[in-house]
Amino acid sequence: MYINGEWQAASSGKTFASTNPATGALLGTVPDGGRADARRAIDAATAALSAWRTRTAYERSEILLAAHRMMLQRQDSLATLMTKEQGKPLRMARTEVGYAADFLLWFAEEAKRVYGEVIPSARTDQRFIVLQQPVGVCAAITPWNYPISMITRKVAPALAAGCTSVLKPAEQTPLCAVETFRVFADAGVPAGVVNLVTCSDPEPVADEILAEASVRKISFTGSTEIGKMIAARAGGAMKRVSMELGGHAPFLVFEDANPEHAAKGAALVKFLNTGQACICPNRFIVHRSIVEPFLATLRARVVKLVPGDGLVKGTTVGPLIDDVALKKMQRQVGDAVDKGAKLLIGGSRLTGTTFDNGAFFAPTILADVTAEMLICSEETFGPIAPVLVFDDEDEAIAMANATTYGLAGYIYTRDLARAIRVAEALDFGMIGINDINPTSAAVPFGGIKESGLGREGARAGIAEYLDTKVLGIAL
Ligand code: NAP
Repeated sequence: MYINGEWQAASSGKTFASTNPATGALLGTVPDGGRADARRAIDAATAALSAWRTRTAYERSEILLAAHRMMLQRQDSLATLMTKEQGKPLRMARTEVGYAADFLLWFAEEAKRVYGEVIPSARTDQRFIVLQQPVGVCAAITPWNYPISMITRKVAPALAAGCTSVLKPAEQTPLCAVETFRVFADAGVPAGVVNLVTCSDPEPVADEILAEASVRKISFTGSTEIGKMIAARAGGAMKRVSMELGGHAPFLVFEDANPEHAAKGAALVKFLNTGQACICPNRFIVHRSIVEPFLATLRARVVKLVPGDGLVKGTTVGPLIDDVALKKMQRQVGDAVDKGAKLLIGGSRLTGTTFDNGAFFAPTILADVTAEMLICSEETFGPIAPVLVFDDEDEAIAMANATTYGLAGYIYTRDLARAIRVAEALDFGMIGINDINPTSAAVPFGGIKESGLGREGARAGIAEYLDTKVLGIAL
């Protein structure tokens, strides 16, 4: 753990292991923190706040720039560690480290653009000035699927705004968090400004964070179930929250789209990170007239995917994170097939010497999927592409919006008016129009409905770490 500028053991002396999901190999052990460690980290962040928030934005920016450069210098070693600990193929891991570094650069720049306002008063002898000030000590809880970029997406804007942080990473990817914090330490982030508490049981650490009045904000990325629980408890103390939660993205392919082009995009974004991305499409909703060529191309693409250990050259799909995820895939496929879906390819655990020690599931396509199947309401978070058909635009919009989630959505059409009309009607926070990656450090990432509250990245990302204060001045 990294607390008050020092690498420390847990006060209990306990540790826990991190393993490779492709091979089951032990990668290392990390301190197993608890309530007392969270307490120490919060105390360190509280003590460091005053000096950090009064540094100039230019000084904070310089430190973030140093972290950005350092992360890119370490891109290969960080990517190799990520592939071993999380499973994604090496090329994708390098891309993620680049994305993580983008947040350091973006918020190094935004640090210098925290503008206030001067507002005219109705009184001639009065002036109004609006300040934007750091919210204070912030806590962050991150998931395993993007184990480095989810950290910088929270810590970089906090640092830029003048906040201090305590971060609890996912149990499955603590080593990626340790190496990310090594970048912060080596880049010159002062002691106590960023603190890392690794743990195998999140509850005591979360309890301490939620109970402590000096923690003014919690930024959480993970499942909707846990996010709701944390937001409800944070509400009890009126702590600010940002919630980046689950998704159930629809991928609409209209009759005027090129079905082959759409299917190529579908294959790329569906099997990204083995389907373990919150913006992965969960339902392909395709016009009846072009579903056959769409399925044919999707199938041809899936056949070419190469599952395996992400460190082996040529691998394009890694393992799932664990056996719990494998069981979920089996349950969703079984339920869909029982209710009449057609299994076009895949559908089961992969076995054999390459796969037996890992959690590998075959890339899968299900056709003839209908709304009452579990896969249409439960987030899949794995390599299964369910395909549904529609007959008209209103029906497609209604099908797409028939979910409690509202994170990402995709539209394929060559009709500009339709693209705008449908994008406006979809209840999702991010829409790709003939595009499979509507994300960047420069744009606001986030969802509506049960996919969350608040935005990360962009100008909006730093606003999440600022409080507004009005000065009314009598002349
Ligand atoms: P998760 O089970 O909710 O875990 C996320 C984080 O919350 C982990 O650090 C976890 O710690 C912690 N946690 C679990 N139980 C907790 C509790 N009772 N109190 C406090 N913290 C607790 O989610 P996941 O399975 O790791 O991640 C996948 C989910 O994240 C998916 O739903 C995905 O869509 C979502 N996600 C969303 C975004 C986005 O930006 N919207 C991005 C990536 C992922 P442990 O690891 O120790 O359990």
